[in-house]
Amino acid sequence: MNYFFHFRHFSSLYEIMAKRDYYEVLGVSRNASADDIKRAYRRTAMKYHPDKNPDDKQAEAKFKECAEAYEVLSDPDKRRRYDQFGHEGLRGAGLHDFSRMNFEDIFSMFGFDDFFSGIFGTRSRRSSRRAGPARGYDLETSVELTLNDIAKGAEKTIEFTRQDICPDCNGNGCAKGSTPGRCTTCRGTGQVARGGGFFQMVSTCPQCRGSGQVITNPCKKCKGAGRVPKKRVVNIKIPPGVNEGQGIRVASEGEPGRNNGPRGDLYCYVRIKPHEFLQRDGNDLIAVVPISFTQAALGATIDVPSLNGTRGLKIPPGTQYGSVFRIKGQGLPDIRTHRTGDELVQITVETPARLSTKQQELLREFAKTESKTVSPKSKRFFEKLKKHFGNN
Ligand SMILES: [Zn+2]
Ligand SMILES: [Zn+2]
Repeated sequence: MNYFFHFRHFSSLYEIMAKRDYYEVLGVSRNASADDIKRAYRRTAMKYHPDKNPDDKQAEAKFKECAEAYEVLSDPDKRRRYDQFGHEGLRGAGLHDFSRMNFEDIFSMFGFDDFFSGIFGTRSRRSSRRAGPARGYDLETSVELTLNDIAKGAEKTIEFTRQDICPDCNGNGCAKGSTPGRCTTCRGTGQVARGGGFFQMVSTCPQCRGSGQVITNPCKKCKGAGRVPKKRVVNIKIPPGVNEGQGIRVASEGEPGRNNGPRGDLYCYVRIKPHEFLQRDGNDLIAVVPISFTQAALGATIDVPSLNGTRGLKIPPGTQYGSVFRIKGQGLPDIRTHRTGDELVQITVETPARLSTKQQELLREFAKTESKTVSPKSKRFFEKLKKHFGNN
């Protein structure tokens, strides 16, 4: 296996961070019928169709979002998983990676190519492509990583379902002992002529969808589709320093190609599990640590969270609220340069909410001394205030 890294373009990255509800995307209710969903998909896909919205990245993203929603809601099993567990329920469900697919592939995958080509004009490339070998579709899945996984790199086992060549018919869709017959609509040519006389239009045969053949006696296992869903487990190596939304390509683990074409790839998108104490900022880690006001005033050695448990950090006397201390080399490695970032500890100072009588006495004593030794910053502040509003 070989890997390389790839960032989804912006719209898809957005998808990962805030995937919308699929019913909302298609504008249907949760109890919509299969027909309602099909109609809704056709309506929304038409609205955002690339031919209607040339060079419109937002429309393109919406179009692919519709395709994803339709892929899930048109499949009873995927729809059930989604209804029960939301987007999380679809991990490893063998969803197609639409962010990397072209429009024609999306149409033909759902069997809508004739519908759309009828509206937007014939795309004759399809029929010629259908005859030769074609690469299989890419699939997407996701992997959740901890900050420790990102720091050291990890090996993860990914389980997903993909459409594979049916073992019973070897992918041709015919029952054992039978072969496909010649399509009667196009007489085996894969193309039909529409209109008459001088302006005859040639388009892909709707009966055999361009293959020139029809299955007369379909295979029992795959019902003539030539493919069946199959579970697949792969181990993937996660390099140190990966980022949220980054895709790790696992070559040739997508769907099989048509007519002996090569397999597509699997893209495994990274999601980062939130850490209880540490936040990622590029290659740096940020920890917000509260200390008491006496620790702030007098200085102390405090425990701060880090990737490998807690570590001691010396705070100097007079530490202010919001001060940041940098612990060199305790961040995350950069994916390209491998240089390790830092950990930044930001201090907050807690004002005690409940004081014992003894503590109150001590603080009152302390306050009496403050007229002589006021903290410099607030002295300056009150002087400025006086100057601005005058003495009253
Ligand atoms: Zn079969
Ligand atoms: Zn035909």
